[in-house]
Amino acid sequence: MNTEIPKSYLTEVFSSLQGEGGCIEGSCFGKRQIFIRFSGCNLSKDLDRTSSCFWCDSLEAQSFKNPIAKIEEKPGLRRFINVKNPLTPPELADIINNLITKDLHSISFTGGEPLYQIDFIVFFLGLLEEYQIRYPLYLETNGTIIPTQEQFYLIAKYFKFCCCDIKDRSSNVAKKDNWNEIVNLELEFIEKCTKHYINTFAKIIVTSETKIDDIVWISKKLAEIKGINRKGVGLAIQPVYLYNESLKNKYAISADHLNQIFYTVADYLSPTNISLSIQAHKYLDLL
Ligand code: SF4
Repeated sequence: MNTEIPKSYLTEVFSSLQGEGGCIEGSCFGKRQIFIRFSGCNLSKDLDRTSSCFWCDSLEAQSFKNPIAKIEEKPGLRRFINVKNPLTPPELADIINNLITKDLHSISFTGGEPLYQIDFIVFFLGLLEEYQIRYPLYLETNGTIIPTQEQFYLIAKYFKFCCCDIKDRSSNVAKKDNWNEIVNLELEFIEKCTKHYINTFAKIIVTSETKIDDIVWISKKLAEIKGINRKGVGLAIQPVYLYNESLKNKYAISADHLNQIFYTVADYLSPTNISLSIQAHKYLDLL
């Protein structure tokens, strides 16, 4: 029997305001969070068949065995110290406890893909009470790693919120002809979260190449998910944000196109379940 204590490979841990999600059930937009950015992503390019999202802004988190994690020294200081990976559960608990401020709303598990290290996460959840970490948890996931029933049970006990990506075909995350396999997994993940009473919403990043037909298909499928208390599941629509000028010229979405996407989604979802999401932290130069 393997009794080794799981350890985590992290890219960074810091305190900031949640800049995404918009005005939608399950979103923590504008709330103070501690962000734990896990390393590794199952959709990154070293895996067969996939090539990673072209807009991925956490490239360093795509690689699993990062030797170093950057830890914010004190909340708001924006100064980082380097610590050696992997980190033990008590080391991570100390880091979290050191970043708690009185406005803290929740703790975000992000990445990379946090569930790529699901064994560590499940183990860590079991220790939260011992470490006196009593904040709601927020999961930001690509939704393509489906936990087992047992793992879901623990996840649902601690994660109150979940933002699950729906990858647009233009993300290049999969070859165009198996893109819908990825979306089907994400939809399955969202449905399972809501069945476990995790307040979950879907987020899609849209670009100039987003196809209205794909939005119809996704919206129809999302509309089939009953959600918590039969309120359905929300969709946060996020225009792609790019730094690179030539990519921006190619992929930035026009206002007309964005409006068309909203009108299309509204054929299937109620207006309460549709929201714009922007990466406000980037506009405000927050961490
Ligand atoms: S799923 Fe997330 S971490 Fe992975 S390639 Fe896409 S944007 Fe990057």
